[in-house]
Amino acid sequence: MDAVTSRHIFGEGTPARDWASWSGLESLPWLDPDVLVPEGRRAVIVAPHPDDEVLGTGGLLAHLGRLGREARILAVTDGTASHPGSASWPVERLAATRPRETREALHRLGMDLTGVDRLGVPDGAIAANEQRVATLVAEALEPGDVVFATWRLDGHPDHEAVGRATAWACAAREARFVEVPIWTWHWAAPGDARVPWSRARRIPLDESTLALKRRATAAYVSQLETDLSTGAAPILPAHVLERLLRPFEVVFT
Ligand SMILES: [Zn+2]
Repeated sequence: MDAVTSRHIFGEGTPARDWASWSGLESLPWLDPDVLVPEGRRAVIVAPHPDDEVLGTGGLLAHLGRLGREARILAVTDGTASHPGSASWPVERLAATRPRETREALHRLGMDLTGVDRLGVPDGAIAANEQRVATLVAEALEPGDVVFATWRLDGHPDHEAVGRATAWACAAREARFVEVPIWTWHWAAPGDARVPWSRARRIPLDESTLALKRRATAAYVSQLETDLSTGAAPILPAHVLERLLRPFEVVFT
């Protein structure tokens, strides 16, 4: 069993209520966005797919926007592999729609729309292009940037490859690397020994920030609807959203 299959994403995963009733999350040290991304520093979010930028760090982005911090999104793929074999969502439609959904979501968070760079890597093939991704991310970084990417052991091969590539780029460019678990909340369980809880920090989201994150998430329409041509359930069904739309975000420092 390789590393990824031991962190398998199948079924409905760990219910949000199991996480909500675990005191371990509540007792994580809090991290103030003002300290995490100090004045004069940029936040750079490296997103494997259009939606990861908001699902992982949408609340943080809204907060940083209010603080006047510059934020950039590096969109690694255009997410064209989300609806395999679909007549409703062929690759060309996804390629046109999903980047537009990201722009709308960031707009709803109050972010500047010019801050998205698309790297154009094929969806589902980030690991096969890992060194190229690492080089492109490094080229986009400035020393002192605070860089957020999906956790190197998040369980989804694209997410893990983005984490590894970004770790390499941050070391090369002397930028700070912060990891964001997204699919972890699906396959892991409270207290799971595979999760680096000692590095975990909690970013609290007040009611209005969480409301912005909810509105931004609703912009990813392609991921929220049942595919009538294949009968496939939404990519982001209610039980997935419930885990990610809670009054805090967690990062590994
Ligand atoms: Zn993703």
